Amino acid sequence: MSNRYFSDSPLSVGPALLAGPEAHHLIHVMRAVRGLRIVLFDGGGAEFPAVVERVGRDQVELDVLAREEVDRELPFAVTLGVAVPKGDRQRWLVEKAVELGVTRLVPLWTQRGVAQPVQQAIARLRRAVIEASKQCGRNRLMAVGEPHSWLDYLQRAPTTSGRWLAQPKGFHKGVPLFATDGPSEQYWLAVGPEGGLSSAEVSLAVAAGWHTVDLGPRILRVETAALLLASLVTQLVA
Ligand code: SAM
Repeated sequence: MSNRYFSDSPLSVGPALLAGPEAHHLIHVMRAVRGLRIVLFDGGGAEFPAVVERVGRDQVELDVLAREEVDRELPFAVTLGVAVPKGDRQRWLVEKAVELGVTRLVPLWTQRGVAQPVQQAIARLRRAVIEASKQCGRNRLMAVGEPHSWLDYLQRAPTTSGRWLAQPKGFHKGVPLFATDGPSEQYWLAVGPEGGLSSAEVSLAVAAGWHTVDLGPRILRVETAALLLASLVTQLVA
């Protein structure tokens, strides 16, 4: 089990206080006692070895021993726009996207989308980001952006970025596409809903300069397509 804990206040060497769900985990699940060594991170890119000084009812006092820059990020930014699936599959997608190093996940509104992401769901997904980051050792949190309409998302992607839309029978075929296109400083990816994108939505993307990518002859579920596309990109320069 991970001994990493997230602090939503910025950390520095010296005394620190952990409260909320992270303190609850440390006190009631890990049964923290004075002298226990843990690692803290605050999402700013570093990690902080710390020792437990005092365990309260719902908060833990710690002594932060050092600040260590530990970079586990990709060498480029990846924005993943997805017409998110329903329920647990959303959480699963977020967890795996964090593990793959995605920089930002943006829920998309599309014509045939099944799940309309609401604020409460976004808050749950942000909590899932923290859990996944604790487990996989990321010291920067993947952002879960506010939902965007399809057109808005397409237009926000800088024209200098690699812009790839997963589309069955798309023009480009998986890996060779990325290999020939060369690295970019940022990638914007898009994946459609369970019911597929309308031809108008695909045309809008192509007209805006996006490339369509075929991920093989089988129809993948939204989260599988999103993670396959993200993994192809993350393997580019990794
Ligand atoms: N019947 C829908 C269609 O033909 O588009 C299937 C939609 S699929 C379940 C959901 C999304 O995953 C698609 O909009 C696409 O972005 C992506 N996807 C699924 N399988 C794919 C494949 N083989 N190649 C490229 N993208 C795929």
